[in-house]
Amino acid sequence: MTDANRVALVTGASRGIGRGIAGALGAKGWRVAVNYRGNAKAAQETVSAIQADGGTAAAFQADIGSAADRARLVKQVLNAYGRIDVLVNNAGVAPSQRIDVLEMTAESYERVMDTNLKGPFFLTQQIAKVMIDLLQAGTITTPKIINISSISAYTSSPNRGEYCLSKAGMSMMTLLFADRLAEYGINVYEVRPGIIATDMTSTVTEKYDNLIADGLTPIRRWGQPEDVAQAVVALAENYLPFSTGEVINVDGGFHFRRL
Ligand code: NAP
Repeated sequence: MTDANRVALVTGASRGIGRGIAGALGAKGWRVAVNYRGNAKAAQETVSAIQADGGTAAAFQADIGSAADRARLVKQVLNAYGRIDVLVNNAGVAPSQRIDVLEMTAESYERVMDTNLKGPFFLTQQIAKVMIDLLQAGTITTPKIINISSISAYTSSPNRGEYCLSKAGMSMMTLLFADRLAEYGINVYEVRPGIIATDMTSTVTEKYDNLIADGLTPIRRWGQPEDVAQAVVALAENYLPFSTGEVINVDGGFHFRRL
C-alpha cells in the first residue's frame, strides 16, 4: 500500500522542470516541499496547483548556493513534515551571459558552480545523514536522491563552459553518493534532460527550433517539464529498485551517435 505521508523535497520548484516534477509527485500523493530562491509568487502557484489537485505542498525559500540557507531549509522541511523520503536536486542556473571559455570570469564560474554543484553536493550530504537516521528509526523505507543534470554533462558548449563543468561534476556526484549510500538502501540517480521548454531556454528558442527541425534529435520536438517529471516519478516510486548510479536520458534520443 502507498504510504500517504511520503515527502519529496524538490529544489527550484517554482518554475520550469522543478514545477513539473513537484506537480507530478503531488498528483501521485507525495507531500511536496517546493523550494525556490526568489520568486515567491511562482512558488505559491506551484503549491496552489498541487493543492487544487487534492495534494499537499508548501513553499520553502532558500538559496541552494548558501550553506546557511541549506541548513535552514532542511530544518524547516523536517519541522513541517517530519521526514524526507526523496530529494530532487533540480535548482540550477545558466550563466547570465554566454561568454567564450577563454574569457569566462571567476565570478560567473562561482555563481554557476555554487548553485549547480556545490549547493546540491552539500545539500545531499546533509540530507543523506537525515535519511540514514530516519531509516534507522523506521520512519522511511526506500529513500532516493535524484539529480537533474543535463546533456551538458558530456556535450561541450564553449560559450557556457561553467554550466557544462557543473553538470559533469553532478554526474560524478551521483556516482559518489550512489556508491557510499548503497549500504543504507538509498538509491541515487541522475536524470539528464535534453532541450526542454522553460524560462532557461526561452532566450534561445529560435536556435533550438531550427536545430530540432534539422534533426538534432531523433524525436523531433522540444521536451516538456512533464517529460522529465515522469522519469522522476518512476524513480521516486521505486520502479528501479536494483539500479543505482544510473543515468536516465530524457532527451528525445540526443545522446546516441547516428550515421
Ligand atoms: P528555470 O526555468 O530557469 O527554473 C529554475 C528554477 O531553479 C527556479 O525555480 C528558480 O527559482 C530555481 N533556482 C535557481 N537558482 C536557485 C538557487 N540558488 N536556489 C534555489 N532555487 C534556485 O530552469 P529549468 O529549465 O526548469 O531547469 C531546471 C534544472 O534542469 C536546472 O538544473 C537545469 O540546469 C536543468 N536542465 C534544464 C534544461 C532545459 O533545457 N531547460 C536542460 C537540461 C537540464 P526562482 O523562481 O525563485 O528563481
